[in-house]
Amino acid sequence: MLSVVAFFASSCSSPGTSSDATTTEASATATQSVAASTGIDLTLFKAGAVVGDPSTVDCTLSGGAETTCYEITISGYPTDHEVGPFCPETITTGADKAGIWFDGEGVYDLDGEFIANLAEKYNDSGWQMYDENGNVFVTDTAEAFEAAARPDVDPAYQNYCIEGSVDYLENGEPITSTVLIPTSPVAAAAPSEPQGNQGVTLDGVIIAASAPVDAILGAYTIASFDDCGGHFNPFEGYHLHGATGCSETGTASEGETAMFGYAMDGYPVHSPYSEAELANVQLDECNGHTTEAEGYHYHANSAAKNQVIQCLVGQTVAGEGDGGGPPAGGVPAGGAPGNN
Ligand SMILES: [Zn+2]
Ligand SMILES: [Zn+2]
Repeated sequence: MLSVVAFFASSCSSPGTSSDATTTEASATATQSVAASTGIDLTLFKAGAVVGDPSTVDCTLSGGAETTCYEITISGYPTDHEVGPFCPETITTGADKAGIWFDGEGVYDLDGEFIANLAEKYNDSGWQMYDENGNVFVTDTAEAFEAAARPDVDPAYQNYCIEGSVDYLENGEPITSTVLIPTSPVAAAAPSEPQGNQGVTLDGVIIAASAPVDAILGAYTIASFDDCGGHFNPFEGYHLHGATGCSETGTASEGETAMFGYAMDGYPVHSPYSEAELANVQLDECNGHTTEAEGYHYHANSAAKNQVIQCLVGQTVAGEGDGGGPPAGGVPAGGAPGNN
C-alpha cells in the first residue's frame, strides 16, 4: 500500500524521479503496450465517495486469473459537486440553467432552443416537447420520472424531457453500488468491449454503459444529463454516461488530463483529450497509453460518443463487467440495452 501511495505521490511532482521499489512492478512489462499498474489507490477517492471500508477479497477474473479484488461500495451520488440542472424550463431557457444531451453523434447544450428545434434536429415532426406558452414538458414528479426514465417509456410521457432527483429515489436517498475491482490490473488476452457498468468515479458514481439513445429518442424523450454527463434513473440512481471533466483529481501531469475514475479492470480513467490534444498523442484501440508519470491508463471518449470507456485491456470480475453486478433489479442479465 505504501508503495502505491509513493508511486502516485511521485507522479504528481516530476516524472523522472520515481524510483526503486515504487516502479519495480511496472518496469517488468514497461516495454509492452500495456504495462502493469501499481493498482488501485483507495486514497484517491474523495471524502464520502466510498461507504464504509473497502474489503479485499479473493476473486476470479474473466480470463481465469485468480487474484484479489477490492469490494468497494460507492455512495451513488457525487460527493464533490451538486447534480443538475437537467432540463430547460422553457424554450428560452439558456444553457447556464440547463444540462446537456448527447446521442453518440454529438454533445449539445440542452437549452430551450435545442428543445424548440427537436423536430428539425431529428427530422421528425412527432417532436413537440413544449406547450403553447413555451413551457417544456418535464418529468417533475416521482411518478412521471418512474414512468419515463426507463427504456420502455410510458407512452403518456412521450415528448417529455426526463429528469430525476434524489428526492424521487426510494427513501429520498442515493442508491449505493458495490463493485469488485482487481486490486492490481491483470491484462486480458485481447481487449474487450465493456458490457454493463464500466467503472466508478473518484467521487462515488457508477460509470455506466452507453445510454439507450435509440429507445430514448424513439419514445420522443430526452433523458437529460447534467453538465457532468450524469443523470438519474429509478434503478441505479445517479450514474454517468459521459465524461466532461468532473470528478477529477486535483492535478494532471504534463501533457495529461486529470484522472477521474477507475475502470472495472482496475486501470485509471482520465478525462478526454481535446481534438487538438488527440492529434499529438498516440492512444491504443481502447484510448489507453502508458506514460512514465502515470503508467497505463485510459482516456475517456468525448461525451458525444455516449460511451465513456472505449474498451478494456484488463480482465474484469465475472458479473462486474457484464451488467450482472449489484445493484440488483436494475440491469437485465447480459447488460445491454440496460436502463436509461
Ligand atoms: Zn494519458
Ligand atoms: Zn442512464
